[in-house]
Amino acid sequence: MSRVLIAEDEARIAAFVEKGLRANGFATAVVADGRTARAAAASGDFDLMILDIGLPGMDGFEVLRALRADRVTIPVVILTARDSVQDTVAGLEGGADDYMPKPFRFEELLARVRLRLSGGRQSETTVLTCGDLSLDLRTRRAQAGRRTVDLSAREFALAETFLRHPGQVLAREQLLSHVWGYDFDPGSNVVDVYVRYLRRKLGADRIETVRGMGYRLVAD
Ligand code: CA
Repeated sequence: MSRVLIAEDEARIAAFVEKGLRANGFATAVVADGRTARAAAASGDFDLMILDIGLPGMDGFEVLRALRADRVTIPVVILTARDSVQDTVAGLEGGADDYMPKPFRFEELLARVRLRLSGGRQSETTVLTCGDLSLDLRTRRAQAGRRTVDLSAREFALAETFLRHPGQVLAREQLLSHVWGYDFDPGSNVVDVYVRYLRRKLGADRIETVRGMGYRLVAD
């Protein structure tokens, strides 16, 4: 089991990332300031660190610089505000690090974490399939039986989440956080609306409603 250190001072984001990683089989620990992050990352107890730039004590860049100066080679995925991506890229040295602009969808972060853990060698799966339903992550195209289907970005993200968990019941909140990120309104019915769109485009019986629980992609 891979162990991921989450250095993030915003509790809501830390909890979002931690929940998602645990659901995907990772062991996690959260730290909320730069000095603790540096010490934990150097301890050798973790395989990867998710590092927020805006941390109290030492910021993310200082933590990263200090670790690299101490020859700590832990792979790092940096969380940064979308409007400071340029500074972030400038702050990255070498190939061990990657960044994720906020806000992000959990699946995007997960893909980066997996890639970094494999040393950047293993290319991520590019086609997800379930029965005669397939999703090409590169062309962003869906195939349902013999039909090629165009999906909007949200529809695609929702379909991707289903195809990564075929046959599993996914709760509405889970789908919201995976597809819409952590900035969602939990009372929103947007998931139901998009499930309807997907059913219309991919076939009504592919996604099952599990009463009181959520939705499931039918896997045969
Ligand atoms: Ca922060």
